[in-house]
Amino acid sequence: MPKGMKRLFFYFVLFFLFSESSSFFIREKELIINPYEDINWEKIKRYKANLHTHTNQSDGKLKPEEVISLYKNKNYSILSITDHNKCVYIYEKEIFLIPGIEIGENQHHILGYFKFQIPKNIENTNEETIIENISGISIFAHPGRYKKEVEWYVDLFKKYPNLVGIEVLNPSVQVKFGKIYGDTDIWDEILKRTMPEKPIWGFGNDDFHNLEHFSINWIEFLLYRLDEVEVKKAIKNGKFYICSAIKGYDMPFIKKIIFNKKKGEIKLECDNYKEIRWISDGEVVGHREKINYKENPDVKKYLRVEIYGKEGYIYLNPFGINEIISH
Ligand SMILES: [Zn+2]
Repeated sequence: MPKGMKRLFFYFVLFFLFSESSSFFIREKELIINPYEDINWEKIKRYKANLHTHTNQSDGKLKPEEVISLYKNKNYSILSITDHNKCVYIYEKEIFLIPGIEIGENQHHILGYFKFQIPKNIENTNEETIIENISGISIFAHPGRYKKEVEWYVDLFKKYPNLVGIEVLNPSVQVKFGKIYGDTDIWDEILKRTMPEKPIWGFGNDDFHNLEHFSINWIEFLLYRLDEVEVKKAIKNGKFYICSAIKGYDMPFIKKIIFNKKKGEIKLECDNYKEIRWISDGEVVGHREKINYKENPDVKKYLRVEIYGKEGYIYLNPFGINEIISH
């Protein structure tokens, strides 16, 4: 073979081997982030929580003790009092209290849990400084109230590992801004840009100020025991899902979630639901209890699911999907 031809042949082989359309390449999707992995649904307990609560120590109507007994009597196990720029500490043994705060004035409000300090001169502080003052866990409160660019959120999520999510469900956004199903649009736009490297967990809270906002949205934590270590781990790893009864309390119920990694299947077992919506990159990609992320070409970098009952609805946290190209 002449030298020129040889070289041409060599390049052809190279092109064939490395072009993505070549049948030598196998595209395989892998579930790399799964907040509900290894859950024994018979043994795990569900703990109801509200992580955004105001009292008369800031702009709420009731005393901290009154707020606590309200939630306790409604079978909540976990509560965080998050008054504005003020930490309210109360000793309480019948409900698990997470030390909390909501920091911010004219800035984007940020919820902080477990460990934080209040920045000096709050009016002139930017959001980054607020996040840096929260050494525990932080999340963005009601993003739908602000007009921030998606990239602004993405940059902060990439920079701060303790910043773990956004409040997808908050009555002020659902009622005042008419987004009855919450800030899912913002959530999806952020997930599109951060997944599968960084999951952004979705939170659902009452933002309780008075009885009008009582037990509308809540979090169900999936825990084997209720203590600080387990709750912290669950928040960091997304081991919970969020519920909204903004339209009423007839809720769907998740019995279990089954995974078949080899086939690429996620299967929900639910009761009392009307509709299931699997969502990937902001688009609905499935309606059944079962989805196959390996076979469904519309499943991209993440997958999350919304389960609608007759009145109430549930959002699960997102799964992260990685596509490996090998040959
Ligand atoms: Zn608030």
